[in-house]
Amino acid sequence: MCVFCKIVKGELPAKVVYEDEKVMAFHDINPQAPIHILVIPKEHIETLNDLEEKHKELIGHIFLVIKKIAEELGIAQSGYRVLVNCNRDGGQEIYHLHFHLLGGKPLGPMVCR
Ligand code: AMP
Ligand code: ZN
Repeated sequence: MCVFCKIVKGELPAKVVYEDEKVMAFHDINPQAPIHILVIPKEHIETLNDLEEKHKELIGHIFLVIKKIAEELGIAQSGYRVLVNCNRDGGQEIYHLHFHLLGGKPLGPMVCR
């Protein structure tokens, strides 16, 4: 089972900030900004490439959850960045789809090193 599925099942600890039937959100273990949250579907979807028509509502829901978390953490107005890494060139390390929510400071231009 993957790391994020273990978090969903409560077999690995996480600092959870949001949870419902379909989605979970928790603090990234190695934050790249003052606020760095990972928002994941509870369903094990490996990469963005594995999304199907049936996931449309789920993905829309995830963005509404992201918006809600940004409001609750007080970064909605100052601003934030949402990103998804896909496969090797995208820098994906955990093969369970996740959305990074980053904020809490000016993030500057998006740099691809
Ligand atoms: P990615 O490179 O997009 O696959 O990002 C994976 C992210 O998961 C990285 O930012 C890691 O710091 C984070 N991460 C890995 N293991 C854990 C964990 N057990 N709890 C929280 N975040 C994690
Ligand atoms: Zn998984």
